[in-house]
This record gives sequence, C-alpha cells and structure tokens, in this order.
Amino acid sequence: MSTETHSLIHRAQDSLPGGKIIIIGAGLSGIATAFFLRGSGITAPVYEKEKNIGGLCRSTHINGYTFDYCGHLLHFRRPEVFTLLHSLMGKDLTRHRRDASVSIFNTHIRYPFQANLHGLPPQVRAACLEGFIQAKKRIPSDHPENFAQWSHCHFGRAITEYFMKPYNEKFWTVSLEELSCEWVNDFIVVPTLRQVRARIQREEKRRLGYHSFFWYPSSGGIEQLIKSFTRGNQSMHTEHEVVRIDPVTRRIWFSHGSSQQYDRLVSTMPLPLLANVIAGLPDTVRDDFKKLRWTSIYNINLGLAQPVNFDHHWMYFPEHAHSFFRVGCFDRFSPSLVPPGKRSLYVEVSYSKGKPLDKKIEKQAIDDLMKAKIISSPHAIETIHVNDIPFAYPLYDFEWKTARSNILKYLHAYHIFPVGRFGGWQYMSMEDVILEAERTAALLAHR
Ligand SMILES: Cc1cc2nc3c(=O)[nH]c(=O)nc-3n(C[C@H](O)[C@H](O)[C@H](O)COP(=O)(O)OP(=O)(O)OC[C@H]3O[C@@H](n4cnc5c(N)ncnc54)[C@H](O)[C@@H]3O)c2cc1C
Repeated sequence: MSTETHSLIHRAQDSLPGGKIIIIGAGLSGIATAFFLRGSGITAPVYEKEKNIGGLCRSTHINGYTFDYCGHLLHFRRPEVFTLLHSLMGKDLTRHRRDASVSIFNTHIRYPFQANLHGLPPQVRAACLEGFIQAKKRIPSDHPENFAQWSHCHFGRAITEYFMKPYNEKFWTVSLEELSCEWVNDFIVVPTLRQVRARIQREEKRRLGYHSFFWYPSSGGIEQLIKSFTRGNQSMHTEHEVVRIDPVTRRIWFSHGSSQQYDRLVSTMPLPLLANVIAGLPDTVRDDFKKLRWTSIYNINLGLAQPVNFDHHWMYFPEHAHSFFRVGCFDRFSPSLVPPGKRSLYVEVSYSKGKPLDKKIEKQAIDDLMKAKIISSPHAIETIHVNDIPFAYPLYDFEWKTARSNILKYLHAYHIFPVGRFGGWQYMSMEDVILEAERTAALLAHR
C-alpha cells in the first residue's frame, strides 16, 4: 500500500466518531479484532513485538516438520463461528473425531476418565462407580466452594482421588482447594449416571464433551487460520514492542523510540505485563495486577525418524511418574505436518512461579517417553523444537474475579480495551477469542 493511501486511511479514521483505534498484539485476538473492524470500514493498525504475527497460533516449519504451540485444534460450539471459518478457509479445514485417552495404572482408557471406567482395574472401577452414585444422590444439597469440593460433589471421592486431583494439580501446579469453580462448566465433562453405567462394561462409540469432534487445517498448521484472517490486511506492524502507554495523553511508545497517538486502544498483550507499561498506575490498581496468577507451559516438539508407539490424537498423563501432563501427535491432525514416513509428537509440561521448571526437563521428558514406551530410544528423535509459553492459562483462584474486574474498570475509564485470553485474562479457546473480537469490534465501530 502506498504512503498516500495510508495517510488517506488515517485521515478517514480520524474523522470517524471516536477516532483512531490502535491494537496491541497480532495474535488471534488482535488480528480478528482488526478483521471485524475492517468489515465496518475501519482500518486499525496492529502493533506486534515479534518478527512474525500469530501469537500462540503460529506454526514453525523445520526440516520438513510443521510444529504448532502444542495442539491447536478448532472446536465449534457456535454455528456462526463455524460458518465464518468455513467461508474463510473452505476446504482447507478437515474434521476429526477425537481419539484421546488417559494413561493410568499401566494401561490407557478413553478420555474423559470419569465417563470411561471400563478399562480400569476392577477394584478401582467399582470404587469410582460407587463414589459417583453417592455423589449424584448428594448433588442437590451440595454447594461446592472450590474445585476440590466441586469434583467431590460431581464425581465422588474415588474419581477425584484417582484422576481429578493428580491430573489437575499437575496441570495447574496448585492444590485444587486454591482453584475456584468459575471455569469448570465450560471445560469439564459431567456425565450422567446412565452414561457412566453404559460405559462401565464396554467402550461406547459416542464421544462425550465439547471437543468430541474438532477441525484442523489440512496442511500448513494452525497458522493457516491467522493467514485467512489477515488476507489483504496491510496494517500489521511487526517488531513493534509497546513499552509505554500514557493513558491520559493517549499515546503509546515502542521499544525503538517512535510513538503513536490513539483515541481507543485494544490491548491483547498479557494483562500482568500491561501493568509494567502503563504510566501513573494508582497503587490500588497495581495491587490488583499483582494478584493475577497463571500457569506456564514448556512445550517440547519432536520430529521422529523411527516408528512411534502412539496412535491417539493426544493422551493425558495424571501420574507423577511422568513429567508431562499431556502428549499429542501432530501427524494425526494432518500427515502433511511430517516428511513422508516420519512422525511427530508434542509434549506439554506445566510450571509456574510456585513450581519452577526442572533444569533438565528436556532429558527427563525424553526418558519419560521411553518409560511410557512411546519411543524406544532417544536416537528416534531427529528434530527438537521448544516453545516456552510463559503465559498459558490464567489461574482462576479466589482473587481472579475481583482483581480482574477492578483492573478492567480502570482501563475502560481510560479507553483501553483489554481483550483475548491473556489481554482479557480469561480461559478462552480460539472460538471464544473470535467471538469476543467480533463483539469488541462492534462496540468500537458504533461509538
Ligand atoms: C498450550 C495451549 C494450547 C492451546 N490449545 C488450544 C486448542 O486446542 N484449541 C483452542 O481453541 N484454543 C487453544 N488454546 C488457546 C488459544 O491459543 C488462545 O485462545 C488464542 O491463541 C489467544 O490469542 P490471543 O491473541 O489472545 O493471545 P496471543 O496469541 O498470546 O497473542 C498476543 C500477542 O501480543 C503480542 N505482544 C505481547 N506483548 C506485546 C507488546 N508489549 N507489544 C506488542 N505486542 C505484544 C504477543 O507477541 C502476541 O503475538 C491453547 C492455548 C495454549 C497456551
């Protein structure tokens, strides 16, 4: 786009009621907000600190392998998002029927654990069923206050002790008593007693849960989603790290010294980092920022030249014998992600301020893959690629709701709109992020 066209767009924007909108971060939230604003005739420049756009929806191409940030699979609860993505990506999306399992007691059972008790040792299976029946009887009178209580209330003691507690403590890196129940309904499957009974003797074909089916690009990795949203958008500015925001004069500064004026600012950068760049933050709001907690993920991606004993899309590992909580297989999402005849895996390890990462985690994870009999030797690995994800899951403890709400109130008063999984500090899927971007763009366009 020529400089002349650029300045025409800027002038047109300035004359709109509400004025110039700037977006920080070119992850899915930022680029989807820009996409929907363009639908209303508004070009909002997007400033991204990295060399490449896409955030967590980037894909890396090395030695013929394509690696994402762990598994990034599209689940649709809302038909309008499905329709939109089909119109943008068309035949590039392939539908998959989930094939996920849980590795436990030296065997593996189908995911979700709580609905697929058939493969468990008989005594464990009986205890889980009995606990589930007792829990169902108590439900109307139970009022769980934390996630531990919620799990006892919905699944009973045995399912909580055998799976919910070890898996979620490994994943969140905190005790279940520290977690609130605000996130559970969207992500944890609660089967009926009938469903549990039907699956106690044998495997049932029908999958349970919101991601029984998922969609994934036929080739190129999840970054195809980003490409479909950015087609024709010339207003992406990479290697522009925002280092200072003056909310009073409405100006942002970049690490290389230049600055930009805005009228309304959409921020998708992680909320805890926003506190470091906003000038003049009152102490009370700064205290609220300090209350935000999160879980980080160390993602080890492996390109494998030798056969691998792993045929699922992904598998959960609740036991402490393994350093990872989940392992998945890229080539099950699309064979185009590996060179012919080869395989690729992703390994996910959680860490946090309270539970730092073991310095030898890569070697440990490879040893554990051998212990789990997934690979037979480290020589099977021909390519290793690591994504360290410092902000992976906002943690829903008992401070989350009030602290987040106070921060958002302060930012909105200064026309700063934090959106996205880390910008808005919510446990959001890609679909959630797209829906929120559409709502945010509609709000900004009609001001
Ligand atoms: C391990 C993992 C697995 C996931 N799997 C799935 C899945 O299977 N299905 C699903 O639907 N969702 C999944 N998600 C969620 C999904 O990744 C997010 O909902 C979505 O990608 C969030 O996009 P975002 O734009 O909000 O954040 P991000 O992708 O983090 O984008 C934020 C952008 O802001 C930039 N930025 C940060 N600071 C600055 C600054 N100072 N200046 C300029 N730019 C800055 C960053 O570089 C980044 O590009 C997963 C998430 C994780 C962590």
